Amino acid sequence: MDLDRIKALVRDVPDFPQPGIVFKDITPLLADEMAFSSVIDLIVVHFGRGNVDKVVGIEARGFIIASPVAYHFGAGFVPVRKKDKLPWATESAEYELEYGTATLEIHKDAVRPGERVLIVDDVLATGGTAKATADLVERIGGKVVGIACLIELGFLDGRSRLEGYDLFTLIGY
Ligand code: AMP
Repeated sequence: MDLDRIKALVRDVPDFPQPGIVFKDITPLLADEMAFSSVIDLIVVHFGRGNVDKVVGIEARGFIIASPVAYHFGAGFVPVRKKDKLPWATESAEYELEYGTATLEIHKDAVRPGERVLIVDDVLATGGTAKATADLVERIGGKVVGIACLIELGFLDGRSRLEGYDLFTLIGY
């Protein structure tokens, strides 16, 4: 399935969750069996089987994409969640969002030293979320082999905050 048809399945929702934000709603894309499997396959092909030990999904929509990617790699899945959601000992990082600030957490024992980690989320906006997640992975001993996001809001230039990482995105605005 070509990327223009996949892009047509992303719905713009103006003024959600706050005035001035155009929310990129991926639920029509996820609900389309061809589009969903295509985006998973494109991520798997880009990074390649045998190169990833753990796939980190960022709460909440990142989980939906990261899980089938991990399955295809034969890799483990690791959740990065918002503050106070994870039950075990955590590492945490505060970061800025396109709308507000937040804290992300990962279990301290989620990755073994030197494991190769792919970070997955739905939208790259300012890059703060992805950068905070990369910092968390590195602080617990993982090696970030790449970052994959379905959508890149190029006008916010999140990419510049992620220099040095293999940043793979499928749909640009
Ligand atoms: P950022 O840290 O600015 O790159 O923001 C990325 C995170 O916020 C991702 O987890 C996205 O799910 C969410 N996000 C930011 N902007 C949008 C948007 N316009 N539409 C949908 N999700 C967004």
